[in-house]
Amino acid sequence: MGSWEETISTFLDTFRLHSIKSKILVFALLATLIPSLTMGWLSYVQNKRSLTEKITEELRNVTSHTAREIDLWLKERFYDVRVFSSSYEVSENLEKILRDQGATGKEGKAFRRLKDYLKSVRAKFVDYEELLVINQKAQVVATTAHRPGPVTLPPGWLNLARKDEIILGEAHWDEALKKVGMMIAVPIKAANGRFLGVLTARLNFQTIHNFLKSFSLGRSGHVYVIAQDGTLVISSRLIPSAFMKSKLAPRTTQALFKKEAASLEYTDHQGKGVVGTLKRVPQLEWAVVAEIGGKEAYAQIVRLRNLTLLMVSGLLLGIGLTAYLLGLTIVRPLDRLTKGAAKVAAGDLQVDLPVLSGGEVGYMTEVFNDMVARLHQGRDDLAAINTTLSERNRELAQLSVTDSLTGLYNRKHLMETLANEVARARRHKRPFSVLMIDIDHFKKYNDSFGHLAGDELLSKIASLFRESIRSVDYVARYGGEEFLVMLPETALTGGLESAERIRTRVATETFGNGSKQITVSIGVAGFREHGDAPESIIASADAALYQAKRRGRNRVVRASTRREEKTKQRAKSVR
Ligand code: GH3
Ligand code: MG
Ligand code: MG
Repeated sequence: MGSWEETISTFLDTFRLHSIKSKILVFALLATLIPSLTMGWLSYVQNKRSLTEKITEELRNVTSHTAREIDLWLKERFYDVRVFSSSYEVSENLEKILRDQGATGKEGKAFRRLKDYLKSVRAKFVDYEELLVINQKAQVVATTAHRPGPVTLPPGWLNLARKDEIILGEAHWDEALKKVGMMIAVPIKAANGRFLGVLTARLNFQTIHNFLKSFSLGRSGHVYVIAQDGTLVISSRLIPSAFMKSKLAPRTTQALFKKEAASLEYTDHQGKGVVGTLKRVPQLEWAVVAEIGGKEAYAQIVRLRNLTLLMVSGLLLGIGLTAYLLGLTIVRPLDRLTKGAAKVAAGDLQVDLPVLSGGEVGYMTEVFNDMVARLHQGRDDLAAINTTLSERNRELAQLSVTDSLTGLYNRKHLMETLANEVARARRHKRPFSVLMIDIDHFKKYNDSFGHLAGDELLSKIASLFRESIRSVDYVARYGGEEFLVMLPETALTGGLESAERIRTRVATETFGNGSKQITVSIGVAGFREHGDAPESIIASADAALYQAKRRGRNRVVRASTRREEKTKQRAKSVR
């Protein structure tokens, strides 16, 4: 194996990716996940950036517009107040009042005219909560209110007024009016230029409030004005009674002032996550903040992200399923091949795998089936050869122990069998008998009918012998026209009976060829009575057969024992 293959295998083993199925699955999932997540992330970043830009742009528009508007409004108020202050009604009457003070008091004509003028102006302009005329000693000379409210002008305002400068008070909560108010003041001068006092206007922010409310920044949008310390002065959302009572966190306020016109993410005065932008108002120490709820601002992005995740999940599921099925189409046939191979290895050649697909695996399956078919054919051929061989062997074995003419056992086999029977009989102390049979005058038969007819007769007589004995008995061709029958478990008497039966069977049989009767002579000997070795038993049976021939043939003669032999000899010698 190449080193790179080893490296990859080790790597795959580390992650337990052994099977083709899991490899395909992991590959497909990675191939889907990496590009789709990368693309998704890129588009998320891109979209978030463009959305942030859009939001920033929108917020910046609102804030700068508002800041400009407030600035303009304030300038107009100063302009108004200047116009009022330079009115003849104001300077003339104030001068008179100052001159006559003490003499006519507040109930004087000049005072009434001044007050009437202030009231008529106040009635025409909605932005003024109260108009006051204050003398150069900081005493309220006239006011449109029943009772003058607190004068909240910056310290040293009289000096500023003397220097002909405009005066801007701080915004404050007016508990009596339940409103946020702010004072502005301009100097009042006599015709000769003498400084008489100031005309002060207490402004309400109704116009600004209405203006702020005119912006729609979505559901969660909010435009408001804050002071340097983060206090909400006016807000598009809050009701006026809540003004000046909420505050942004100092850190947020600092950050917003520091990064003017940039959009920041922070928590608002209610603790909600928002995106907002600040813009300072020229002239004032105030700033306009426009903000929009973080959730609403990025809802589009969240939707996009969720959609992307959903799509990726769907893709993963689809691709995963496809990869799994693809894996199965490869693994299944391989699995079948493995099982088939295992069957073949176990010796079962009845294997024919289905070829369900083309390609390498399909081709491999075809080759496998072909291989198994050939093996099967080979085994059949081999079996046929084996059968033939064993038949031949059996035939050969048969040939080696049988006599070809009669089909009976030959002499060689007889001698072996006899030796075995003797051993068995000895071991179990059981009897057995032996019959030695010879055809009478066979020579003559040969001479009369020919050698071939003689052969035929031998074969027929052999059949007769086979038919006349039990299945446990044994018959063999001893030589020429002599046969030997062995009867296991049969004592001499039984042997004699069997011999007689055989003799009768042959004698009563009619053989063709017009020949006269065929007879046999039989000598019978028994195990133990006539010896306990094959040779001695055969010799005894042979001797008995000889006796049968001598006594006229076609008969059965029992072999004589040794003692009978001796008795006979003695009788002979006596004669
Ligand atoms: P007996 O036994 O009654 O004394 O007279 P026999 O004529 O049978 O005499 P013997 O047993 O001596 O003769 C055997 C004859 O059997 C000799 C031989 O020609 C014949 N013979 C032996 N083997 C065969 C054989 O295989 N085929 C044929 N046709 N004849 C055989
Ligand atoms: Mg003979
Ligand atoms: Mg004979």
